[in-house]
Amino acid sequence: MAQAQIIDGKAFAARVREKVAAHVARLKEVHNITPGLAVVLVGEDPASEVYVRSKGKQTVEVGMASFEHKLPEDTSEQELLGLLDELNSDPKVHGILVQLPLPSHLNEDLVIGRINPAKDVDGFHISNVGLLATGQKAMVPCTPLGCLMMLREQHGSLAGMNAVVVGRSNIVGKPMAQLLLRDSCTVTIAHSRTKDIEALCRQADILVAAVGRPQMITGDWVKPGATVIDVGINRLPAPEKGEGKTRLVGDVDFESASKVAGAITPVPGGVGPMTIACLLANTLTACCRSHGLPEPDGLTA
Ligand code: NAP
Repeated sequence: MAQAQIIDGKAFAARVREKVAAHVARLKEVHNITPGLAVVLVGEDPASEVYVRSKGKQTVEVGMASFEHKLPEDTSEQELLGLLDELNSDPKVHGILVQLPLPSHLNEDLVIGRINPAKDVDGFHISNVGLLATGQKAMVPCTPLGCLMMLREQHGSLAGMNAVVVGRSNIVGKPMAQLLLRDSCTVTIAHSRTKDIEALCRQADILVAAVGRPQMITGDWVKPGATVIDVGINRLPAPEKGEGKTRLVGDVDFESASKVAGAITPVPGGVGPMTIACLLANTLTACCRSHGLPEPDGLTA
């Protein structure tokens, strides 16, 4: 039996989307502005296609304009950069997202670097990375932003808490650590070379797992009462559901960890749904900033 409080990311994401939709409606009514999000997909990766469809659908549902650009696998770097230049200068587009991973002949750093940082709703442009690291107003990567929102709701102030982030990727681990530092946590980043990682994790009041290893973090890694945020999305075979079927699990072993933690995000239904909600929030924030209008409360770091 789980003892931990389950943090319901699905319900939280629905509240974020409602808040975004209400603000979008006001922007239209009062200022005649419709925030717009352009999503660029190169190639035919099936998982990416699902994400892009879902992003487009949710963008329209909150009242924003969605611009989808599907380019063939063999698109040249020059063609892709040309499209980004057009989107950068299009006043109807406030947010630009290039779906990753890109086909191997395209240089991801170069492509992300071409996006106008003010429209970089993924927060991956080096300018936004630097702004975040120096405590300035930035576009914040969506997944860690979603985690931060849930932690703030759970605890109010995070000041003085011990936070351990397992994983040091540019898209999750590092920006997550920056956000926790900004909220005055004492932050440690763990990775594949960290010594005695279990003991380190057991000191964490906030434990964020962004590893990509199914159920690696078990209950005996968790400090009693800690808040555990599981970013991991891993597919395991589930023959009990039928031949070839799979099930989603996180980087945390929910069964054992939920007996020790004070609060925990499940997989699915935790961090996952927050990511697209935060993408919509970022698009709205980018739109407000570009028009010099006040930003909605509670939708960014
Ligand atoms: P990534 O780029 O592969 O990074 C994984 C990190 O985990 C690396 O820093 C790696 O350390 C560390 N690591 C690997 N094995 C380890 C071990 N045995 N002990 C300690 N650390 C270890 O992954 P990512 O892109 O950050 O994604 C992490 C997970 O989050 C994945 O499951 C991914 O699917 C999921 N994710 C979910 C969302 C969402 O919307 N919910 C969004 C993005 C990602 P080194 O640096 O030393 O190699």
